[in-house]
Amino acid sequence: MAIATEEQMVVDKVAKKLYIGGEWRDASGGATLEVIDPATEEPLCEIADGTPEDAMAALDAAVETQREWGATPPNDRAGILWKAFEALMERADELALLMTLEMGKPVAESKAEIVYAADFFRWFSGEALRIDGNYKQFANGTSRVLVMKQPVGPSLMITPWNFPMAMGTRKVGPAIAAGCTIVMKPAQQTPLSMLALGQILEDAGLPGGVFNILTTSSSSKTTGPLIQDPRLRKLSFTGSTEVGRKLIEASAQNVLRTSMELGGNAPFLIFEDADLDAAVEGALLAKMRNIGEACTAANRFHVSEPVREEFQRRLGERMGALKVGRGTEEDVKVGPLIDQPSREKVAELVQDALDKGAARVVGGEIPDGRGYFYPPTVLGGVPDDARVLHEEIFGPVAPVTTFESEEDAIARANDTEYGLVAYVFTRDIKRAIRVCEGLETGMVGLNQGMVSNAGAPFGGVKQSGIGREGGKEGLEEFLETKYVAVNL
Ligand code: ADP
Repeated sequence: MAIATEEQMVVDKVAKKLYIGGEWRDASGGATLEVIDPATEEPLCEIADGTPEDAMAALDAAVETQREWGATPPNDRAGILWKAFEALMERADELALLMTLEMGKPVAESKAEIVYAADFFRWFSGEALRIDGNYKQFANGTSRVLVMKQPVGPSLMITPWNFPMAMGTRKVGPAIAAGCTIVMKPAQQTPLSMLALGQILEDAGLPGGVFNILTTSSSSKTTGPLIQDPRLRKLSFTGSTEVGRKLIEASAQNVLRTSMELGGNAPFLIFEDADLDAAVEGALLAKMRNIGEACTAANRFHVSEPVREEFQRRLGERMGALKVGRGTEEDVKVGPLIDQPSREKVAELVQDALDKGAARVVGGEIPDGRGYFYPPTVLGGVPDDARVLHEEIFGPVAPVTTFESEEDAIARANDTEYGLVAYVFTRDIKRAIRVCEGLETGMVGLNQGMVSNAGAPFGGVKQSGIGREGGKEGLEEFLETKYVAVNL
């Protein structure tokens, strides 16, 4: 199937090369990799398939540029981020279409992501001006404590396919603000958004060598040598817990500083005193944003028995009414999943729950035809041992179960190795605070189905990660603290 002219135009506009030391170049050896449209399973274009030599060239560029870049005035770094923020906003429609083509989500959602992604540049443009330290006396008065903040240094960033732009800007924004140089390795499935970001940053005046982009089909082979290189100072990763564990292990060699945004298994708790209208809206957002392909996606709904049936019915009606299709089509709310293995995993989890006695409220059948589509699905009466309650679904499936008491709700919510986010719906302020305090997660959506915000510290506890992105905490990830003991 040929793609529409407008679509072809946005794809044509992207430089399909590696971006190293301020130059766009082919992979050494000239290999390329195909980028696929998950809605049609057809190739969109070919881009450079970077090798370990290319990766090393990117690190060389980042290392060479670090000293000078780290010494640029904060105003300059803030100015570049602000310009890039404006460019992202101006080009939001075109960038949204590009993202939908490579990733599948509906264009309206892609556009929301561009705005969210741009917001990190706006936020960190401000933060670049507020890097400070402190000065105080030794307690015994003899000397002085002088504390300064300095850029960590050359940073490797590895990003996933589910938010191709925002997972990039959330790392790149604070790194630029702090004065760090970057080697960025986007996900193989969705490299085009990151390449577009490279062009935007270049146009905004970012000096060559500060931001280097390494697209590749062999992530571990290309990034492995960089992680072992003592010149690299930081690894910032967003992706699965499984890969995160391996990267933490590899980072131990050089005691690399790491930031890890890993998987989740978010519980969504609805108490009998909740505003049920708000809970249904919140559930739709928490479950269906990004086709359920978000680490923050509500993975399981624990609903107090008196309201469980009504909630389940209403959620089923709403989810069943969402239009599924290619993200470029009008009114489509649910795009395809990213690839066939992802769809198979979702189907497997649903089948396991049904086999163990769950009821199918809506959905659950893979449609005929091309594209990795899976319908919005609600499962009722899901038994405790169903895998869907314990594994990250990453798809449009909402398993509903129940709890007996507030204590039981908290215990069930915490019964996972993950600890990214939880959602709580209740109108009782005391209960709300008690439950928020009891949850073992880095974030809570309290009567709200979405937590992501550029000014807030995003991140998880337990096996959901290390560190925070966004907010002033996000900047700290790219700063080192140096203390000078001053003898007066
Ligand atoms: P997801 O399930 O979201 O695809 P992954 O953890 O598999 O999550 O991938 C996230 C990112 O990590 C992608 O950019 C991917 O290419 C990269 N990646 C996967 N495996 C490795 C590895 N062994 N070493 C380095 N990067 C990896």
